[in-house]
Amino acid sequence: MSSTAKTDRYDIIIAGGGMIGASMALALAPLGLRIAVVEAIARKSGEQPSFDDRSTALSRSTQRMFEAMGLWPDVIAAATPIHNIHVSDKGRFGFSHISAEQQGVEALGYVVINRVLGSVLQSKLAGLDGIDILCPARIIGVELGPDSAVAMVKADNSRKISNLSCSLLIAADGANSTVRAMLGISAQTSEYGQHAVVGNLLPEKSLDNCAFERFTSQGPLAILPIADDRAGFVWTVSEHDAQRVLALDDADFLAEIQSEFGYRLGKFSRVGKRAAYPLVLSKAVRLTATRSVLVGNSAHGLHPVSAQGFNLGMRDVAALCDCVADALGASGTVDAGDEQLLQRYATWRHSDQSKLVTFTDGLVRIFGSARAPIRILRDIGMIGFDLIPGVRSLFVKHTMGLAGRLPRLSRGVPLR
Ligand SMILES: Cc1cc2nc3c(=O)[nH]c(=O)nc-3n(C[C@H](O)[C@H](O)[C@H](O)COP(=O)(O)OP(=O)(O)OC[C@H]3O[C@@H](n4cnc5c(N)ncnc54)[C@H](O)[C@@H]3O)c2cc1C
Repeated sequence: MSSTAKTDRYDIIIAGGGMIGASMALALAPLGLRIAVVEAIARKSGEQPSFDDRSTALSRSTQRMFEAMGLWPDVIAAATPIHNIHVSDKGRFGFSHISAEQQGVEALGYVVINRVLGSVLQSKLAGLDGIDILCPARIIGVELGPDSAVAMVKADNSRKISNLSCSLLIAADGANSTVRAMLGISAQTSEYGQHAVVGNLLPEKSLDNCAFERFTSQGPLAILPIADDRAGFVWTVSEHDAQRVLALDDADFLAEIQSEFGYRLGKFSRVGKRAAYPLVLSKAVRLTATRSVLVGNSAHGLHPVSAQGFNLGMRDVAALCDCVADALGASGTVDAGDEQLLQRYATWRHSDQSKLVTFTDGLVRIFGSARAPIRILRDIGMIGFDLIPGVRSLFVKHTMGLAGRLPRLSRGVPLR
């Protein structure tokens, strides 16, 4: 890893080398293009916002992508499979159950710690020719022209600003994307007034590869199977409660989360480090500008209730790779920032992104509400979810990322 560029002309520059930016570079690697990834914060820094201690549930389409990219053996070695999902509503009768067996798949998804996934992705990237990783360095300005985009890059250890030009600039710099703003693309945002408190704990009983989602009056609580019989939790609490919950001592914290979840997994103990994330829905008003494109959270930031933000971003990666691969000439060259290519990407991604934003937002509002009519509706929904044929498999198809027209990588087909 270095903070200086080896050339000043690239085919593609990726702004942000987090979960999506690093995956994007690895996915594009077989095409033999000259690529730079500019990442502001080193992976091992405690400040790294992407590769942190959160646990992420990888969908089946993300699994297929990592398989096609040749990374799956390393990812699965660090991941825990989900064989069942148990969905319940605190204080109400009934629950829904989805199983891998019924769906005819070996697992509904896999849980991986972001920090561990980061080390897999970055060690693969480090060994690739043709990809420069500029880190710690950030993009501080952008100039867009008809033939190229120029990224102004400043390394942390230097006062010099390098102007790096490229055919295509990909913004993968997260939900508060400054590059998106530099491209002149605004985003619609709406705050949920909630924080996700995340960490891990030790339940008395084994999770047995089951993931639990429990809707409470404050919001959803997810308990995910991770390594060493521990459970990762994502606990949604109201904004004004987040600091109080973080400040609780371990015993009081365990007592509160236990009272929300119940004793299905026996008594909780040994809670690890906790962190809180403010929850905001964001959606960019468009996905492209001249010679530039948005992927991942810079395009859409979701509530974690559906565990889909990263998976949706990976489908952006797969679709953009397909568009670039299709345009590759026999000589191996491509104008990756060609306007028609970018338009194909934007049109392709519109439906999947809009559906998942609406679906996730709907889940938060329906299941987070204590109002009586909505409670009745969601009880019917929970029962209907299990009994009405087709409803559950449609839901599962979407959460596994297998609905709609799929690009090569999402089908597990290598780009080359
Ligand atoms: C509590 C929680 C739980 C979640 N669980 C799941 C889950 O189970 N499944 C799932 O699919 N998704 C989940 N998500 C969503 C998932 O974490 C995000 O969708 C994913 O991290 C987005 O990755 P990204 O690379 O687009 O953005 P980020 O992770 O925000 O990374 C952006 C990167 O860009 C860098 N950067 C920023 N500005 C610049 C700049 N100017 N120049 C250079 N670099 C820059 C940053 O340092 C960072 O490394 C969860 C989210 C939360 C909050």
